[in-house]
Amino acid sequence: MIDLTIDAGHGGKDSGAVGTTGVKEKDITLKLALKVGKILSSRGVSVNYTRTDDSSVELSQRAAIANNSKARFFLSIHINSASSPTANGTETYAFSAGGQGEKLAAAVQKNLVAAIGLTNRGVKFANFAVLRETAMPAALTEVNFICNPKEEAMLKDEAFLDKTATGISKGVVEFLGLKWEQQPQPTKPPETPKVEGITRIMGTAQATVSQMVSFAMKGNKEPQLPSCTLKELAEIFVSEAKAEGVRADVAWAQSLHETGYFKYGGIVKASQNNYAGIGALNGNAEGQAANFPTPIIGVRAQIQHLKAYASKEALVNECVDPRFSLVTRGSAEFVEWLGVADNPNGKGWAYLGRGYGASVISLLNGILKEEKEVEDGIPQWQKDALETLVEKKVIGDRAYWSKRLGEKITIGEVLGLLAKL
Ligand SMILES: [Zn+2]
Repeated sequence: MIDLTIDAGHGGKDSGAVGTTGVKEKDITLKLALKVGKILSSRGVSVNYTRTDDSSVELSQRAAIANNSKARFFLSIHINSASSPTANGTETYAFSAGGQGEKLAAAVQKNLVAAIGLTNRGVKFANFAVLRETAMPAALTEVNFICNPKEEAMLKDEAFLDKTATGISKGVVEFLGLKWEQQPQPTKPPETPKVEGITRIMGTAQATVSQMVSFAMKGNKEPQLPSCTLKELAEIFVSEAKAEGVRADVAWAQSLHETGYFKYGGIVKASQNNYAGIGALNGNAEGQAANFPTPIIGVRAQIQHLKAYASKEALVNECVDPRFSLVTRGSAEFVEWLGVADNPNGKGWAYLGRGYGASVISLLNGILKEEKEVEDGIPQWQKDALETLVEKKVIGDRAYWSKRLGEKITIGEVLGLLAKL
């Protein structure tokens, strides 16, 4: 839907009024129309134009352009002229009193006068063709008098034209009931400072399987993993990551971020063995992300996709990542660069992904803060047995016995324990 058709008066063979030093109305109205359109577009007002270059457009065609596009409102921009070289000031026309056209004219007139400070000649009514033939409320503004050398000189000043365009635009915005103070709507993502890359994706994991598992359990006691246990999955991450030279803990942190600690609930379903939303683009319907036949293949695809971004090295395993070939190899060496918006190369895993890398890093730090289990070679069933006996109060000093799990036991100690049972 078009909010406003902007009509630059005259054009082509019709110069409009011409000043004593040769300034042509048609050139000024075109400049102003384009400036107004740019300002309004940046504030979310949709506009079209009756002309955007120096072409001749009949008056009835101007109205037809607005009518055919079903624009809500119409605004024609002109520069005034009179026989007297001292005629001066600003005036804005509507077709008749009492309607929306008059309100539009009044808002434009008020804001334009406030912006450029010339004589306020007020809102007037006239049977101009573009006001008459347009189907929507319409106004026509006459910025100043080109026949007045002082006011003609202003029209040569780009800063004056900018002020004029701003005044007209403010009037339209006020008439539409929008707030001028609102931040302009960016037409493209704003430039943001890129993030310094620190944490390499390639390398050896610093976290152990037990740290990965215990951190994940803190975030979600019931991970949705239909095909394996959490520990088995962490072990798959470690072996698959190692095969390709990727940090398993980084990939794990990314999966926690992508799946919400394996809670899922987004586009990807737990049954898809897709732990990093591969192929789950914004706007995809539920379940359209890639499906992987097993956890191993799912993890392998994620590791390969990370490697695609983090390195230019060839894959070790056969490629199972369906999107591997779409990645610019080596374009995101660091975790901090996985979000496109944060990456000086303008590439990355997540679009726009501002802060994506930081979220993964924060999870990685959480994993690394988990207590590291001592690599003591004691089988888990023996550790579990100790916990059971502590719980059952057969053993009182957990710390004492925990340290001695690998030692030999004396007959006396056995008898002591048996007696407690
Ligand atoms: Zn004119």
